[in-house]
Amino acid sequence: MSDVSNIIKSAKENLERQFETFHSDFSRTTGVLRSKIQELTDKNTSLTSQQSEIDENVVKLVTKISTLKRQKENLQKSIDENNEELADLKKELDNFERKFTNLSINHSVLSGAGTAEGNICKKCVLPYDQIERFHSVITTCGHQFCQKCLKQLFTLNNPFNFPINQEISEASCPNPTCNRSFAQANIIKLN
Ligand SMILES: [Zn+2]
Ligand SMILES: [Zn+2]
Repeated sequence: MSDVSNIIKSAKENLERQFETFHSDFSRTTGVLRSKIQELTDKNTSLTSQQSEIDENVVKLVTKISTLKRQKENLQKSIDENNEELADLKKELDNFERKFTNLSINHSVLSGAGTAEGNICKKCVLPYDQIERFHSVITTCGHQFCQKCLKQLFTLNNPFNFPINQEISEASCPNPTCNRSFAQANIIKLN
C-alpha cells in the first residue's frame, strides 16, 4: 500500500513541476504577445489618423481642382470671346486697309497720270519699263517707284564690304516726306 502511495505522490510532484514550468512559459509568451498586440494597435491608430489626414487633403485637392477647372473654363470663355472680337476687328482693319490701298493707288495714279514725271521713278530717275523697273506702288502709303528700287531697299549692304548681303523684312518708303515702313508684300505692280 505504501508503494502505491509513494508512486502517486511522486507522480503528483512531477505533474506540479510540469505545471509550474508550463505556467511560467505561458506568462512569458502571453506578455510578449500582449506587447506585440499593443504595438500593432498603436501603429494602426497612427496609420488610421494618417489615412484620414490624406482623405481630408484629397477632398481639399478635389475641391481646388474643380475650382481651378471652373476658372479655366471661364478664362477659356473670355479668350474665345476676345478672339471673336479680335477676328472681327482684324477683318474691319483689313477692309479699311484695302480701301485705303485702293484709294492711294487711285490717287497716286491720277496725280501722276499724263505727266512726264508720272512715267519716271523718283528714286533712280529712270523711266519705268517692263523688264525690271516695273511701275510699282507701295500699298501702305501709295507712293510710286520702280520695282527694282523698291526691292533694293530690302538688301542691307554691309558698310565694311563684308561679302554677305542681309535681307531685311521691312524698309522705309524712299519718299523723303513719308518714311512709312512697308514689306515686300506691300509692293504692287501697276502694269
Ligand atoms: Zn527706280
Ligand atoms: Zn511713301
